[in-house]
Amino acid sequence: MFKKGLLIVLSGPSGAGKGTIAKALLKNENNIKLSISTTTRKPRVGETDGKNYFFTTVDKFKNLIEEDKLLEWAKVYDNYYGTPKDFVLKNIEEGFDVILEIDIQGALKVKDKFPEGVFVFILPPSMEELKNRIKKRGTETEEEILKRFKCAYEEINFVSRYNYVVINDDVNNAVEKIKAIIVAEKCRVDRN
Ligand code: 5GP
Repeated sequence: MFKKGLLIVLSGPSGAGKGTIAKALLKNENNIKLSISTTTRKPRVGETDGKNYFFTTVDKFKNLIEEDKLLEWAKVYDNYYGTPKDFVLKNIEEGFDVILEIDIQGALKVKDKFPEGVFVFILPPSMEELKNRIKKRGTETEEEILKRFKCAYEEINFVSRYNYVVINDDVNNAVEKIKAIIVAEKCRVDRN
């Protein structure tokens, strides 16, 4: 029997390492695709349009919302971010598992529309480590770091809305756990 792919949503506070995990999950896996989001944020050094994000303007982003081209969207730290709907739905129909690496507001919106998705909350090993990781990235100003850190404290309360929680103490460990979740989800008798 031909099966649809899974929609796997990885989210959690900024700095938890969900981006690194998502990229590592794709290695040596040809049945998993990563959804590339659209954003109005400016590209960081080393980021490429169409690879890290589709970078766009606020006006064009608003058009995408109006034309119902986004599966979800959210304003995160003063910028808009959204998941292109067609890419995700087409690949799931074709049997690919699709990963979304998105913030918590977006994940909750996807859960309303797509409850059969697999929602995984990525946690840092400690709040201290989270702060270190955000700082080490070196891409945000002091003010932005503080904002992201404060936000993380509130966001952690949403963990109970997810199906799984994975602590990212080590990327390889976290990736193995998510692969195990994917295998388990595919074995579920209540998933057709
Ligand atoms: P960054 O600017 O650091 O790349 O991302 C900031 C936050 O936006 C991260 O938590 C990231 O997961 C989230 N994000 C990235 N793409 C999307 C998206 O399409 N939708 C939503 N809701 N959040 C996103």
